[in-house]
Amino acid sequence: PISMRRIEKRFGSVAVLRDLNLDVAAGEFLTLLGPSGSGKTTLLMILAGFVRANAGSIKVGGDEIITTPPHRRNIGMVFQNYALFPHMNVFHNIAFPLKQRGVGAAETAERVEKALDLVKLKGLGERRVDQLSGGQRQRVALARAIVFEPRIVLMDEPLSALDKGLREHMQIELRALHRRLGMMTTVYVTHDQREAITMSDRIAVMNAGRIEQLDRPETLYATPRTRFVAGFIGESN
Ligand code: ATP
Repeated sequence: PISMRRIEKRFGSVAVLRDLNLDVAAGEFLTLLGPSGSGKTTLLMILAGFVRANAGSIKVGGDEIITTPPHRRNIGMVFQNYALFPHMNVFHNIAFPLKQRGVGAAETAERVEKALDLVKLKGLGERRVDQLSGGQRQRVALARAIVFEPRIVLMDEPLSALDKGLREHMQIELRALHRRLGMMTTVYVTHDQREAITMSDRIAVMNAGRIEQLDRPETLYATPRTRFVAGFIGESN
């Protein structure tokens, strides 16, 4: 239910996103795939509300949200570096967005417990975040993003800090979680072609602040519309 129209973003005189349009269907797992510097993170931050676009419109379920502050957007976010509070325990990290939204103690406890269960961290609520492994931190970030049951979840290279084995395991788990959560609309960022092809319903290939092609993985692969898309998708072989 996301519709982004004519999004422009400049940092100083540098245009990072140019006249960008993007539609994400309800329940879809859509991936932004592109080389470093193509504008993927910026697009995600604009969608989350942490970065303000210079122009354009973002509608979610028909409502304009471009000026809505992040915590009122009902969008969960997993940041590239997880952005957890290292000195706080797992429970308080996950409870943070509920606190922000004024949810009471009993309901908070219940929801955090459910989120811990979903990401397979049951029993680790009291553990300090700086005493967790990389994979466990990744799960805490994920639990924090879904604990308030947002309509939309955004993930910025959530698996890039993990080693290859764990990354492949988490790819499968993330897709399974997406199904279990009733197909929550997900926008996922990666520069890894193989990861995008494995996980996504559709992929938007980004290059220099524009979307070059948005299609199902097999379509991108079989009928790339530009030389850039052909080269970039082909690299996964
Ligand atoms: P990566 O895969 O390396 O994270 P990306 O596709 O996510 O890359 P962005 O992080 O969105 O790309 O950056 C796009 C461009 O915008 C880059 O040229 C970057 O240097 C520039 N940029 C991003 N944030 C800022 C900022 N706060 N100030 C100035 N320039 C910025």
